[in-house]
Amino acid sequence: MTGQVRTFKPEPLTIGSTTVSPGDRARTQLDLVELADGTRIHVPVIVINGVNPGPRIYLGAAIHGDEVNGVAILSQALGEIDPAALAGSIVCVPVQHPLAFHADHRIPLSQFMKSPLDQAPIDAWSCFPGNPTGNLAERVAATLFGLIRECSCAIDIHTPTRGGRYVPIAILPPRTLGEAAEAAAWLADQFAPGYVMKTNSGMYVSSGILCVEASKGGIPSFTFEIGEGGQLEQEMIDEGARCVRNALIGLGMIRGERRLPAINYVLRDFLGIRARRGGLLYTMATLGAAVKRGDLLGRIVDIFGDTVETVVAPEPGVFVRATTLSTVSTGERVATLGLL
Ligand SMILES: [Zn+2]
Repeated sequence: MTGQVRTFKPEPLTIGSTTVSPGDRARTQLDLVELADGTRIHVPVIVINGVNPGPRIYLGAAIHGDEVNGVAILSQALGEIDPAALAGSIVCVPVQHPLAFHADHRIPLSQFMKSPLDQAPIDAWSCFPGNPTGNLAERVAATLFGLIRECSCAIDIHTPTRGGRYVPIAILPPRTLGEAAEAAAWLADQFAPGYVMKTNSGMYVSSGILCVEASKGGIPSFTFEIGEGGQLEQEMIDEGARCVRNALIGLGMIRGERRLPAINYVLRDFLGIRARRGGLLYTMATLGAAVKRGDLLGRIVDIFGDTVETVVAPEPGVFVRATTLSTVSTGERVATLGLL
């Protein structure tokens, strides 16, 4: 069913100054910016060029610098790919924002602390398609978009920032984008993470977001969230690698059987639940589980040991994102449900 995305004949692929012939793989880089001391920052790129016709898939991780699960997912999933048996090609950017990754933080913290005004906007993820003469975030987005627009489809891997943990969930671009959104939904189905979000509102489907702008440009794409920010979780890495391989199999790029999860929730919206009180957060529900209205999600206990808030599900749904911070203040998110 590769008719869902564009296919390419085998041909040499040039990324920056590196040309990769069909049947080869290479690690290369694209020049990004120069720091004050003359250090040059590059975007790392892995190219695996297949010998048979097929789609060209873009795979990216760590556009937020503390979202390291995706980096390991991509190296694990792509480590076994043999270009001599690959149909199509893979363009992979395991660390999409090297300066944020250096900071092990969602944003490039050192740059932000030094010149906060020049660093606005700070989040490259929401600056697509970017601007090659803009600020750092806009240049990161423009550099990545230059790769994405040459591909057939794209998957952008995230975790929450530190203090949050997601189930493996594919978040689709808005349905209003038509054919590309339909193809993205098809690709997410092949990917088979077990949780798929089809919302038409909120941050994930806003203009400027990587997968939204790529899909607008005719490159079907979705966001994939998995696991906890700032953590390397082998169980999640295995899950993510399974999903990436599923996508490659579904696209006809590699041979094999897709491995499907035991559950498959298709969700229509997120519902973030925020604390009314401050204190220690005890999460009581099981991440990934379906909950009924009124089910206990968590408890906020003040520093004297008294329960000051009992957090319950206001609607039925699936518990898709947990807060892993040990404390919350009024207004902070305690849990997120995916609504069925
Ligand atoms: Zn992220």
